Amino acid sequence: MKDSAYLARCHKRLKEWGAPLQDWYCVGVMDTEEDSGGSFTCELCGCSRVRFVHEMSHKQYFEDVSVGCICAGIMEGSILAAKERERLIKNRARRRSNFVRRKWKENRRGEYRLKYKGDWILIYGSDQGRYEVSYDGKSVRQYKGKPITNFLSAIYAAFDLVDPPIRGQRL
Ligand SMILES: [Zn+2]
Repeated sequence: MKDSAYLARCHKRLKEWGAPLQDWYCVGVMDTEEDSGGSFTCELCGCSRVRFVHEMSHKQYFEDVSVGCICAGIMEGSILAAKERERLIKNRARRRSNFVRRKWKENRRGEYRLKYKGDWILIYGSDQGRYEVSYDGKSVRQYKGKPITNFLSAIYAAFDLVDPPIRGQRL
């Protein structure tokens, strides 16, 4: 990759949008392979093979821009910061794939449990075919904004509960 040409291309695109060239900050990183196994096209450089998406925000711009690691680094002025987030999201993706392989124990009432960091995660179903997940005094009935209607989604929801997605005001 020719860094200066790449940088110029990114800046050109931002100018075309009437968007600021710098001082963007990241509000979230996500793994596009979490559910669908799909990849994402970077909104800034057009690279179509982005797995980890950095959501970039700017006080003077009307919408967030979703980009890959290097573009995120250009927008915020720190490739190191973007690479550090990339490292965190990759580690979380690895923990998630380990987590979904673990074996849950079923009890007589049809509840499933898994010991995690000394506490039990509980998954139980309702009559309406909905699942609820609880851990450490917290419970969720939704996964990615939708009711949980199958056991696999319940496991994903359990992971989000014990190892929350990487989001925040400024990352
Ligand atoms: Zn890009």
